[in-house]
Amino acid sequence: MKVRDGHTHMYQIPTPSDSLRRSVKEIEDFNMELLLKRLDELEVSQFQIMPQEMTRISGRWLGSNELSADVQRYAPERIIAFAAAEPLDIHGIFNRARLNELEEAVVDRGLKGLLLTPPYGHYYSNDRRVYPFYEKAVKLDIPIYFHHAHMYTRDAPGCPARVRCPLKYARIWLLEDVAIDFPELRFNVEHMGYPWEEELFALMTNHPNVYTDIAMFIDPYKGSSTKKGRPLLMARNLGMAREYGVLDRVFYGSDYVGESVDEYVDLLRREIAYLKDGLNRDMEAFGFAPLTSEEMEGLLSKNVLKLWRQDRK
Ligand SMILES: [Zn+2]
Repeated sequence: MKVRDGHTHMYQIPTPSDSLRRSVKEIEDFNMELLLKRLDELEVSQFQIMPQEMTRISGRWLGSNELSADVQRYAPERIIAFAAAEPLDIHGIFNRARLNELEEAVVDRGLKGLLLTPPYGHYYSNDRRVYPFYEKAVKLDIPIYFHHAHMYTRDAPGCPARVRCPLKYARIWLLEDVAIDFPELRFNVEHMGYPWEEELFALMTNHPNVYTDIAMFIDPYKGSSTKKGRPLLMARNLGMAREYGVLDRVFYGSDYVGESVDEYVDLLRREIAYLKDGLNRDMEAFGFAPLTSEEMEGLLSKNVLKLWRQDRK
């Protein structure tokens, strides 16, 4: 069974806004050939990558839009690269420059989606100042990923964790306005919207273009003490998603952040092994029927294709 990793930040690492990396030439030991060979061994056929803009509150990015496009150039059939944006600037004013940059990144450089992270940028996803980004995504026919969940964070200089990602900006119901006002917009609510998974599934029942990924639930990379794996909750959530009739819009993502082929491949190996060999045992422990092979294939490989619009190829 082929696997698609629908959510990563491969080759995107935290960088101060004034020293962004824009080309793979700036990545030490960049070796796409080696990465693809290792992914072949794991039968991982495609992976998504995305930068993340966090300039408003912490003055940083993960990677950059230019770097995202440059990485994708090395294997455009296998890499689904996104742009990122904060729709409001540091003064809280609509970020027209970033909107123009998004259009250019998609039209001229072939990026295939957009990441928005409201809790990191301290704005609400239903803020009308953000709507031009949704209009543009519909016009460009690209999906949006939302980080719209709790985030485990540690204190960092100048940005204490307690103020970094307030939960009020992550509430799922904010996205209902977006789904109602932009029914054509395809979007992914990352991390099953934890801790509001059931609210998200309810939203998904009424809005067929809303998807979700399971990133961060199994085995967060590096075993960081601030990033908690919660496989039992994931098993419960997948059972719930099936009961709500939305399981065919749930997909796998590793959420790897970093530049190490070994680290990324090890993470994939651990997570795929759990999904194939451990998940059904945990679902049965909750009283849910195990995933059928068709449901498993959807989760690991096929469901994300509809979001990316690759199911029509
Ligand atoms: Zn992520």
